[in-house]
Amino acid sequence: MDNFGSTRSAMIVGAGVAGLTAATALARKGWQVEIAEASPYRATAGWGLCLTGPSLRALDVLGLADACSAAGYGMSVITHVDVDGTPSDQVDLPRLIGAQRPAMVGIARPELHRILHAEAERCGVVVRNGLTVTAVDQQGDLVDVRLSDGTDRQVTLLVGADGIRSSVRDLMGLETPVDYLGQMVWRALVPRPEWATGIHQFAGKVNTAGLVPISSNRAYVFLTENGVPPNVLPDSELASRLADLLTAFPGRVTEIRPLVSASGSVVRRPVHTAFLTGAWNRGNCVVIGDAAHAPAPQMASGAALAIEDGLVLAEELERHETVGTGIEAFVERRAQRCRTLVATSVTIAGLEQAQRHSEAYPLVDACHRQMAQPV
Ligand SMILES: Cc1cc2nc3c(=O)[nH]c(=O)nc-3n(C[C@H](O)[C@H](O)[C@H](O)COP(=O)(O)OP(=O)(O)OC[C@H]3O[C@@H](n4cnc5c(N)ncnc54)[C@H](O)[C@@H]3O)c2cc1C
Repeated sequence: MDNFGSTRSAMIVGAGVAGLTAATALARKGWQVEIAEASPYRATAGWGLCLTGPSLRALDVLGLADACSAAGYGMSVITHVDVDGTPSDQVDLPRLIGAQRPAMVGIARPELHRILHAEAERCGVVVRNGLTVTAVDQQGDLVDVRLSDGTDRQVTLLVGADGIRSSVRDLMGLETPVDYLGQMVWRALVPRPEWATGIHQFAGKVNTAGLVPISSNRAYVFLTENGVPPNVLPDSELASRLADLLTAFPGRVTEIRPLVSASGSVVRRPVHTAFLTGAWNRGNCVVIGDAAHAPAPQMASGAALAIEDGLVLAEELERHETVGTGIEAFVERRAQRCRTLVATSVTIAGLEQAQRHSEAYPLVDACHRQMAQPV
């Protein structure tokens, strides 16, 4: 049966990278889109992230790559530094959006979200904060959705873009384990040192660290702490604890350490991964982004997969007669790429923990080149 004879309406759960980009892509193809976002706040807190080539390529399709570049810091080289503090090699990343534009962009998360929000709303998407979905029931070609404010919607498509702990995935009965990889990742916002014009990655005897510029005057320091339980530390201790962990690194990290001690913005998060090995949908309900495939952050590519998902979903729904067949084509196009990235990120995390950095770097490089292939 043709679902597209009348209004095409979508409810998206989660206004993260996946939800906002899927909403924009669908709205541009004529869908009426509403987003239910659990957080009562419009702004996203947090550290920066790296938009790699595939992220920029997908954002460019939405016309947003240059806005992200302007709000962030464009760069094209990763410098790997050995445990003794000497640079071991430099990797030139492929420039997927043209030789004159950067291979990747470091950006503060609130800046990225501001850009994605503004574009979604410009396209007519309605974003409701402080709202979630409590029940889902498919009736024929329509999905009945009950929201946490007691109101109901009947839509042609429900998209769960609510992250690694997706409650939409649970409501759909799609079970997947969320694995803890034995690592905690740290991020600290610091002033950008002048020499930091690309990503630096520092191998350590126990942990790995690095620096990513996110604007002309700001950067974030990252550190991956190996072999620790996923415990929570008081916020007041984070800056000094991270500075302590950085004492093990020689070379340029000694310049970064005092910046971290003085940073007012330090976060520490457990490295979790998840991948839905079976179906990503039940009828006209589908999960995308981290809700379907959450890699470890080592490949800096979770946002790329999330943005690509939104574009491919909108494209396949446009191409197919029914929402069901469009969703099937979407999953068919996405599953292998996402599985490869999640699996590779898990392998890299293992190599880091085993101090096998010389094996991890080429794997990261090879995976970036694989991700550079067309979606
Ligand atoms: C420390 C760290 C560093 C990272 N660095 C990078 C990087 O440099 N580059 C990169 O590409 N990727 C990076 N990633 C991965 C990237 O952040 C994720 O892959 C990406 O954010 C996934 O987007 P998403 O929209 O699927 O999920 P999320 O970003 O998790 O967004 C989900 C949204 O849904 C909302 N939500 C949750 N539950 C509900 C509910 N029940 N109802 C309604 N709303 C709900 C949340 O509030 C949130 O707004 C990193 C991840 C971590 C943890």
